[in-house]
Amino acid sequence: MRIVLFGPPGVGKGTQAELLADRYHLIKFSMGDMLRQEVAVNSSVGRRAEPFLKAGHLVPDNIIFDMVNNFLIEYQNQDILFDGFPRNLNQARTLEQSLAQLSQKIDIALELYLPDQEIIKRLENRRYCPSCGRIYNCLTDPPKIKGVCDECGKKLIKREDDQESVIRRRLEVYEQETRPLTEYYKELNVYKKIDASVTKEQIFKKISEIINGYTDKK
Ligand SMILES: [Zn+2]
Repeated sequence: MRIVLFGPPGVGKGTQAELLADRYHLIKFSMGDMLRQEVAVNSSVGRRAEPFLKAGHLVPDNIIFDMVNNFLIEYQNQDILFDGFPRNLNQARTLEQSLAQLSQKIDIALELYLPDQEIIKRLENRRYCPSCGRIYNCLTDPPKIKGVCDECGKKLIKREDDQESVIRRRLEVYEQETRPLTEYYKELNVYKKIDASVTKEQIFKKISEIINGYTDKK
């Protein structure tokens, strides 16, 4: 089983990816983790990617795909969850071609969906403890005392990338780059839209039903 999980920033994608990987014993493919790991073990792909990462540039697609192909071959007999990858149509098409060479394909593409206004509200209300790194949300997951970390009593701060202008920019990039995956996966008959406005338990239940339905059919 090959599952793609995508969605705009702030919908709780990371949380669902963790829950899914645990429940279904999926090998998680996350681009950021993967790149860091390749650099850490000093692999040939890692050595090619390192200068781009150090300069804060995007790693070129040809390097990304060498890495993806190595991963697909290494884990060809296990179930995989692609977390935040592919990010655009070109990556989605190339991924499908690479899988086809192994007689595989994406079986389910899940999009976590929230209206932009709701995403902005959530991210604007996110607070972060500079001391222990714990993340709170004033609306959905507030600390016991307003503005103060439960763990260490430090004053909570708002991160710069949670400012409204930055959030709007990230949502625009998502709209342009990633949203076209919706149509792409619809055409492949694997697309499922998930309402992310409910609790994380309810989201997970919905996703589990989809996956169980798929495995029952097989
Ligand atoms: Zn703290």
